[in-house]
Amino acid sequence: MSKTLFDKIWDSHVVKPVEGGMEVLYIDRHFIHEVTSPQAFDGLRQRNIPVFRTKNTVATADHNVPTQNQHLPIADPLGRFQVEKLTENCNEFGVDLYGLGHRWQGIVHVIGPELGITQPGMTIVCGDSHTSTHGAFGTIAFGIGTSQVEQVLASQCLLLKRPKRMRITVDGELAEGVVSKDIILYIISKLSAAGGTGYFVEYAGSAIRSLSMEARMTICNMSIEMGARGGLIAPDETTFEYVRGREFAPQGAAFEAAVAKWRELYSDPDAVFDKEYHYRAEDIAPMITYGTNPGMGIPVDEAIPTAPTPGDSLASFEKSLGYMGFAAGENLLGKPIHHVFIGSCTNSRIEDLRLAAKFVQGKQKAPHVSAMIVPGSKQVEAQAKAEGLDKIFIAAGFEFREPGCSACLGMNEDKVPAGEYCVSTSNRNFEGRQGPGARTILASPLTAVASAVEGKIVDVRSLLN
Ligand code: SF4
Repeated sequence: MSKTLFDKIWDSHVVKPVEGGMEVLYIDRHFIHEVTSPQAFDGLRQRNIPVFRTKNTVATADHNVPTQNQHLPIADPLGRFQVEKLTENCNEFGVDLYGLGHRWQGIVHVIGPELGITQPGMTIVCGDSHTSTHGAFGTIAFGIGTSQVEQVLASQCLLLKRPKRMRITVDGELAEGVVSKDIILYIISKLSAAGGTGYFVEYAGSAIRSLSMEARMTICNMSIEMGARGGLIAPDETTFEYVRGREFAPQGAAFEAAVAKWRELYSDPDAVFDKEYHYRAEDIAPMITYGTNPGMGIPVDEAIPTAPTPGDSLASFEKSLGYMGFAAGENLLGKPIHHVFIGSCTNSRIEDLRLAAKFVQGKQKAPHVSAMIVPGSKQVEAQAKAEGLDKIFIAAGFEFREPGCSACLGMNEDKVPAGEYCVSTSNRNFEGRQGPGARTILASPLTAVASAVEGKIVDVRSLLN
């Protein structure tokens, strides 16, 4: 029987079906961090049970670590407490931790792939919504709640209902200045922030196939922002070459054997999806958001809609615009900005930094803009330094920080002041996401870096030649 890629992976991980349509699913990899794991470990302690499979569990500190002076004790009491708690828990339960100071520390969704822990065909969970990132490798990867973190620590399994399957196909070639972040912001603007609710999305088509692994991760990362449970892309030669030789990937003959299996991970030609959408890459322009959910996106050179888009109410549309200080029908090109943040698990990898550095080399950021580059991991940071990217950014007036989630969610000191605009490469523009009252405009690294230089929202296409 024909199957979708999603069903092939899901079926191979079902431990047992349960009455009522639920299934017990085996989880291959469990990533944990300092924010959603303390209660889960407490639960294990209270029940006097160990972590069932310590070698399938990997921890890092990312959400509230400082991005300056990481060698010093953390000044923020809550951040310090949570990071110390994570260390204690990992030591007590025997879980590998790549914490502050470790050469592999970084944002959980950056380090998994770069270490080769994330591999095609796996089921992967983490107490974090953007676990969907790992779907770029042809995995079923999704975020879970704290009680589920405890379940996975205790049993390496989860009781789940199978979601519906959606396929989004993007064919064609992207124009110059348009990158993968624009693809996903475009898709979410079409489907709305709730358009994927109840579905697991497979991304397909020639435009998706042509993307690097890092660009594919950006796409899958934001699946959750249209309400989907997760997103995945069938693995191919690009995937295999990315995984080859990485620290925790199979090596030598074992790698070749794994690739032979991974080649079977695709949706059969006549597999049936519950919903399908098709888009043309040529229709996609550099995108920005104007509101307070990622579905409120527009091509950078178009005006804000004059009425709510499908999936949004008039009240929330007006409230969003009020929060952002924008007006319906307004064109945002030329709008002055205060901050630029290039980082987060969406866009903090080496290719993002290379793209931004290439644009900014020999230029200066606008004097009134504060601009911050936060690499996604120690490995990204080291690579950027080896290539001299840090020097390019610093010469252009940017700050080059140490790895962490940073201003993606402002759990550390990297906050955007109330009322100020930040063009951000992160994934959420919710009210207060980057700090109380902060106004977030989501964009690609290219649009973000160009806006930093110009000091206002710009169409990067006009600056590339
Ligand atoms: S960078 Fe942002 S979205 Fe990604 S894991 Fe950290 S807080 Fe979550």
